[in-house]
Amino acid sequence: PAAPGGPGADAPPPHSESSSDSVKVFVRIRPSGVAGLAAAGVPEEGATPLQQVRDDALRVSGGGPEAKVFALHGVLGPHRTQADVYGAVGPLVLDSVRGGYNASVLAYGQTGSGKTHTMLGRAASAAGPGAGLGEDAGVIPRSFDDLFRWLAAQPGEASVQCSVVEIYIEKITDLLQPGGHSLPLLGDGAVKGLTWHTMKAAGDVMRLLDRAAASRQTAATRMNAASSRSHMVLQCRVELRVALAAAAAGASSGGGRAAKRGSVAVRVRRSLLSFVDLAGSERQKMAGTEGERLAEGAAINKSLLALSKVIYTLAAAPSAGGGTSAYVPYRDSVLTRLLQPSLGGNSRTVLLATVSPDRSCLAETLSTLEFAQRAKYVVNKVVAHDEVVEQPLGPGSGSGPGGASAASAA
Ligand code: ADP
Ligand code: MG
Repeated sequence: PAAPGGPGADAPPPHSESSSDSVKVFVRIRPSGVAGLAAAGVPEEGATPLQQVRDDALRVSGGGPEAKVFALHGVLGPHRTQADVYGAVGPLVLDSVRGGYNASVLAYGQTGSGKTHTMLGRAASAAGPGAGLGEDAGVIPRSFDDLFRWLAAQPGEASVQCSVVEIYIEKITDLLQPGGHSLPLLGDGAVKGLTWHTMKAAGDVMRLLDRAAASRQTAATRMNAASSRSHMVLQCRVELRVALAAAAAGASSGGGRAAKRGSVAVRVRRSLLSFVDLAGSERQKMAGTEGERLAEGAAINKSLLALSKVIYTLAAAPSAGGGTSAYVPYRDSVLTRLLQPSLGGNSRTVLLATVSPDRSCLAETLSTLEFAQRAKYVVNKVVAHDEVVEQPLGPGSGSGPGGASAASAA
């Protein structure tokens, strides 16, 4: 697990070369016998076809004449806890913020396999104010808990802003704005009219997600849909501004530049964090569907199909990261346009593929594992947003003593 570092454990000095970073892929196997799944239409039945053969490999039998072995970056078996999962992905998130990199965590898998449990978990909202994290808290609450703890230990000023959208039938809805109107996606992948909310503590993020969950439910009811058929994306802009003491005193700054009189050199680091709970990856049952349901099935297929096409194209062209000559079909769906930076672009990315241990889910499990194994070959080109800027002295120069204002206790 990522121990929050003090100022001494800070990231290295500013630099801006890009580096290649492959998508990290973990498979998480849900425990069997989870109550309530049958009612939700997910069948449960006996012996498992899954066998973990190494820390990073899973053997699947019964899908054909021969067993298949899938190698990933890690396999998290049914007995691994939420803390174990965070131990695998958390360092990437926090290290990214420390260095000014973007990071993305995506959960992919069939409905009922544990995507939401892994990303959000339960205890976070059940815990009272100040109660801290429950052991069922997922990757998102743990990430923000760590993030705010780290920010509180930094000198300078931090700003954390979050947005939450849902993508359903190729439409984007801001879950934090009343009315549920769909918002247009601009050419650069930004969502027009999206609201960003200032967060001062991890608890603020959890309250925001509770609000988002409530409005997602309302929207789903209005459209007669289940949330398992939409994608949810939480994004967070983190900015940390730290005045460089030497520059403030008029000496030359880290980059060898002298600070102007009346101004101060400030190190600015920016990261965009994206947490994505994808729609269930199961093939949509098309039988007897018409009208909206048919359009819905096709549209959900469209986004997830586009996602696998993008992954397949990038995986086949490992030099990707913007340098590939292959045509990458990002524009085929809203989801892939929104996630473009996370896929072959400027973001460190983790894919959490969730699978059910049950034999009845074998076909979907195999398809999830094929997707996951392919995603391992996607290479991102990451660039740090880490620079030194001259800023007039005064409020906002990030020179306040230990003034991590965004990290005041909940
Ligand atoms: P999904 O979001 O993929 O549809 P959920 O996260 O809602 O699936 O999980 C389905 C059910 O299984 C939920 O009741 C959830 O709490 C439970 N569950 C999933 N993964 C685990 C796990 N690792 N440990 C305990 N319960 C789990
Ligand atoms: Mg879910």
